[in-house]
Amino acid sequence: MKDKISKTDAQWRDELDPEVYRITRQKGTEFAFSGRYWASKTPGKYLCAACGEELFDSEAKYDSGSGWPSFSAPADPAAVEEKTDRSHGMIRTEVLCSRCDSHLGHVFPDGPPETGLRYCINSGALDFREED
Ligand code: FE
Repeated sequence: MKDKISKTDAQWRDELDPEVYRITRQKGTEFAFSGRYWASKTPGKYLCAACGEELFDSEAKYDSGSGWPSFSAPADPAAVEEKTDRSHGMIRTEVLCSRCDSHLGHVFPDGPPETGLRYCINSGALDFREED
């Protein structure tokens, strides 16, 4: 179990860029093809935009055609938590940062063969660290 980061809503609002706050703390979604990372193929690590936890590796990133960064798996299974999301008249599986409980996106069972999973993640919930 990771050491959880726990901050008040006011602290998060104060610390985060408004778009990062909207996505990570208010379960927002960016428009498809609008984020910084959906088309990126640069090798490196994707970190939680709110707490810096390493969440995804570019090796698991693939082009799903969705317009959001898509990964076949998290960098470490313990890096993310999954939760049933019944909002907007759908049943989906929400993906959250296991360290700070930030909303990242959703996971769908239509991914590439290795895992069959598509982690559909908002660019706004991520920071990128290029490989040296
Ligand atoms: Fe986090």
